[in-house]
Amino acid sequence: MLLRHTPEEVMERKAVSINPAKTCQPIGAMYAALGIHGCLPHSHGSQGCCSYHRSTLTRHYKEPISASTSSFTEGASVFGGQANLLQGINNIFTVYEPDVIAVHTTCLSETIGDDLPQIRKKAEQEGKIPEGKYVIGAPTPSYQGSHVTGFSNMVKAMVDFSEKTDTKNGKINIIPGWVEPCDMEEIKRMSKLTGIDTIMFPDTSGVLNAPMTGEYKMFPDGGTTIEELKSTGDSTGTLALGEWCSADAARTLDKKCKVPCTVLDMPFGLQATDRFVDTLRTIAGVSVSDELVYERGQLVDMLTDMHQWTYKKKVAIAGDPDHVIAMVEFLITLGMQPVHVVTGTPGKKFEKRIKELTKDQDFEVNVKAKGDLFLLHQWMKNEPVDLLICNTYGKYIARDEDVPFLRWGFPILDRQGHQYFPTVGYKGGLRLLERILGLLLDRKDRDDPEMKFELVL
Ligand code: SF4
Repeated sequence: MLLRHTPEEVMERKAVSINPAKTCQPIGAMYAALGIHGCLPHSHGSQGCCSYHRSTLTRHYKEPISASTSSFTEGASVFGGQANLLQGINNIFTVYEPDVIAVHTTCLSETIGDDLPQIRKKAEQEGKIPEGKYVIGAPTPSYQGSHVTGFSNMVKAMVDFSEKTDTKNGKINIIPGWVEPCDMEEIKRMSKLTGIDTIMFPDTSGVLNAPMTGEYKMFPDGGTTIEELKSTGDSTGTLALGEWCSADAARTLDKKCKVPCTVLDMPFGLQATDRFVDTLRTIAGVSVSDELVYERGQLVDMLTDMHQWTYKKKVAIAGDPDHVIAMVEFLITLGMQPVHVVTGTPGKKFEKRIKELTKDQDFEVNVKAKGDLFLLHQWMKNEPVDLLICNTYGKYIARDEDVPFLRWGFPILDRQGHQYFPTVGYKGGLRLLERILGLLLDRKDRDDPEMKFELVL
């Protein structure tokens, strides 16, 4: 009973968050930056911030995360970090030779008021950025938003690269949002099956799920290249997956280079994937490929066969808004009841969207944006559930309440495989369903009396 002090009585809290359902902005910025080929993320703040961000990403992706820091000490905290960043840019290009340095700020540098565009300009004037190399920057004050906001801000900063020429490239930009590297691979596979040539940015596939080859590469082979990022301005259109993660960058690109954008939910589950595939098909002006029709049929078959086990099962879910919205829709498709829904990221439109998704259902939903896991736990004490879906931090609640627990989202610190097995698309839907069913049926096998303990389910 690690969380035995969590009371059932829910009281309104404004000034304190307990067991947050989010982490800090620069972690998202660092993850996004790793999706550019040859990029070194740079944390403009103290070493402690950078260590925390790197270690969280390393623990989730089980890969070494390279990043540099402006190493603020007392002097920089008082006088500002310009001198540290200028020196850092010089050292990094000299020693590590990245193509790009992607700088994000931290609470400290934001509070001091360091101006990244001005510092970059000074670095250019002083010749510290070699020819053909780049420095981009994103503001990521962690006392606002969440890791999702930081991710979105860094993706938006990538739009700086875009150039508009007189020649269209015939490609579609896909901004996948914060999904696993294997999910990005799956989105590219589905686009290819529809006959669409894409530029995905950011793209961490081949970076954070790269194979062991015995050879260390400071900059792995994967990631969106600078040439691709420049070319995004000549694309036919942009598909942004996730309002919170991707929409800002897509709209900025539209404004800058007149590349029209469509914002969709992340393609988790049957219906969100249907909308994604339908949009791809419409853009390409083709019918849906036989392979995707086949995969869809498999997912529909399994969810129909297994409906008896998922029907009316209650679920509590916490995670990032774009993930949770798509998952809530999928759970409803499965006949399940997502009764408690929390995201740590602020935004009232999240609550509105969840209420819309659940409005015609025969259950009431508790939903909170900028909520925390303490509140989710309290709700579960008042209305118990059959399944908890959350990142690793949910394990304490699952243990205390003895509830089956699906680890999904970021971060997952105590299991493997999430970077290799996609959960987007129809195939990903099958995997999600298989995992949910496994948890529910394992619990049934554990709890059934011997008279009801069946070989065949
Ligand atoms: S000080 Fe701010 S940026 Fe640094 S780790 Fe803490 S929350 Fe994140």
